Amino acid sequence: RTLERVLADGIRDIPDYPKPGVVFKDITPLLADHTGFTQVVEALAAFGKDDDGRVVVDKVVGIEARGFILAAPVALALGAGFVPVRKKGKLPAATYEESYALEYGEATIEVHQDAFVPGDRVLVIDDVLATGGTVEACLRLIRRCDAKVIGTAVLLELSFLPGRERLQGEEVSALVTV
Ligand code: IMP
Repeated sequence: RTLERVLADGIRDIPDYPKPGVVFKDITPLLADHTGFTQVVEALAAFGKDDDGRVVVDKVVGIEARGFILAAPVALALGAGFVPVRKKGKLPAATYEESYALEYGEATIEVHQDAFVPGDRVLVIDDVLATGGTVEACLRLIRRCDAKVIGTAVLLELSFLPGRERLQGEEVSALVTV
């Protein structure tokens, strides 16, 4: 199967979740499909390699929670480390935190201060790019640790939202855009 087919088959629309009027993109069918999941992990891992197939990242960051599911196997596929970026209050050691605006209110994410060696090259992975606020805050966190972001890769980009504008100047890739 082509990657396009795998993504089309494995991502479904759930209307009115988490609230009325929102159409939630649900990736759980894709995760349950072993060959599809494998293809997706390989495709995401490609963003951590150069044109000659050499690995160019030291760490892969996953954003809680669905980002974890994708980033951990990508890290293993690349022979890189995995670093979790979590919602405030979940990481046990000293953290840096960054906040960003939501439609109503604010969210805060954190990373361990010692998660990176200075100069580490980092690939950021998440499931969905929507308004871009989460990824933007995540990139600020990584840079506060003196690590170097080489790119961000997501499964799905929602192009009717301003994520890409917000992340102008950043290297952002999506396996599929709707
Ligand atoms: P953003 O900060 O607006 O770009 O939202 C991105 C975050 O919200 C990601 O961590 C996604 O996991 C989550 N998200 C937003 N919309 C969806 C969706 O339709 N399906 C799955 N996750 C979503």
